[in-house]
Amino acid sequence: MSLTALTKSDWHERASKLRYETRHFIDGNYMDSVDGGRFTVVNPATGAPLCEVSAGTVADIDIAVAAAKRSFAAHVWSRKAPRERMAVLAQFSKLLLANTERFALLDTLCMGKPIHDMVTIDVPSAATNFAYFGELVDKIEGAVTATAADAFHYILREPLGVVGCIVPWNYPLLMAAWKVAPALAAGNSVVLKPAEQSPLSGSLMAELFIEAGGPPGVFNVVNGLGETAGAALALHMEVAKIAFTGSTEIGKKMLVYAGHSNMKRIALECGGKSPQIFLGDLPDLDVAVTYAINGIYGNMGEVCNAGSRLLIDRRIAKEFIARFIERGKNAYRAGDPLDPATNLGPLVTAAHRARVMSYIQRGKNEGARLEFGGTMPDAPGSFVDPTLFSGVNNQMTIAQEEIFGPVAAAIEVDGIEHAVAIANDSIYGLAAAVWTRDVSVAHKAVRDLEAGVIWVNCFDHGDMTQPFGGYKQSGQGRDKCVESLLSYTQMKSAWVHLG
Ligand code: NAD
Repeated sequence: MSLTALTKSDWHERASKLRYETRHFIDGNYMDSVDGGRFTVVNPATGAPLCEVSAGTVADIDIAVAAAKRSFAAHVWSRKAPRERMAVLAQFSKLLLANTERFALLDTLCMGKPIHDMVTIDVPSAATNFAYFGELVDKIEGAVTATAADAFHYILREPLGVVGCIVPWNYPLLMAAWKVAPALAAGNSVVLKPAEQSPLSGSLMAELFIEAGGPPGVFNVVNGLGETAGAALALHMEVAKIAFTGSTEIGKKMLVYAGHSNMKRIALECGGKSPQIFLGDLPDLDVAVTYAINGIYGNMGEVCNAGSRLLIDRRIAKEFIARFIERGKNAYRAGDPLDPATNLGPLVTAAHRARVMSYIQRGKNEGARLEFGGTMPDAPGSFVDPTLFSGVNNQMTIAQEEIFGPVAAAIEVDGIEHAVAIANDSIYGLAAAVWTRDVSVAHKAVRDLEAGVIWVNCFDHGDMTQPFGGYKQSGQGRDKCVESLLSYTQMKSAWVHLG
């Protein structure tokens, strides 16, 4: 039976029968923490504890990094013939898809994402990452440079060694795939530290890598809190690179950890406050409004590139906001994330909900107009209703800070130059969109907007070839794309004297 045909009660029944691991996965085996420590994961849809998971400390990270280092030095993966590595990654991609139901349940139970999104977006996209980077393994090329007659100079691209991947909870499986797939494809060994809110899908991934033919020790997972397990990984002297996705605040700490340890490479994918610019000549108002609604309320607004700032040309603002209210108010309704009809799950934790609600209060206090939402449904989980503020100016807290919830801020602008100035008046620069019929205006905006990803007359479109990452304090790495794969390699120059 197709997973998209399952009903709410089917999913609940499957959730009740789901068996999963809560220990670390190191060197091909599940193991408890050295000190036996555990932490509790709560299901945000009910507020009830879900399970107790091994809490890694320095000792567990040491064991995992040592296993990764051993596997790297033994060349069981790092120098495996490229086509053999490709075969493993292709098979791994298939196994991820074949286990869609388990992954969907694990991430939904931990962080409240609608099960429909897991089945149709997160799991297939994660599988595509492994397929794409797997296909690139034997396309990694060095170079031979032009030299004088007495020399032969060539450049090799080699893996880095042990790569630590530290990822957030908003797309637990997918964000891990964005890091782990290129790291493995380039021949590195990996230690993954999932977010403590959503630790369950990481170890299943690593287990399936072995089933796909991957050698033990190449893909390890240590669960635990950021300030203990995460910090131990980022400070480790034998880790060559940290690939981090998470908040800007913690991203900055990664740079400090690197400086305090071994100058390891740091790739950062951090927060955002993405503007969508809607100009008066946009091609289709209804289409634009639909993208505005989905761009902020999808995944409960817990999206790094969420279109949280709507910069609307004053000429169309009244009509745009009226249509946004008419359709956006009811487009996303809080519900049981195991119900396939639900498109708005709870926020990840009660603490995060409190944070989002405090931003809504700030918006009201600072004089923004609450058009709808700003409320919490009468339900046990940590839900927040979709919210729209109009009459926002860009200096308000809700326009400057990343809320990471279903809260849109509509700001009126006068033409493209004004819009771009406001769009760029942010510490962030992850993504931006511009909606216009004028090709010249669009291309000029692409140049002028300070963001790593720009969409024209669409939002959140893309595929694996698209570099994803930020300008400014949204980070400095790029996920997906060939460039990402190369960032998990280093160049070695061989200068041969021909005498
Ligand atoms: P977070 O920064 O709190 O945590 C991210 C990861 O870092 C978690 O695994 C956490 O355990 C770990 N961590 C926390 N403190 C640490 C410390 N002191 N040392 C080492 N590791 C530590 O972020 P979050 O709340 O899990 O995720 C939400 C954030 O992620 C948002 O800011 C969002 O914009 C960002 N994000 C960015 C992208 C992107 O591609 N740019 C994608 C998804 C999410």
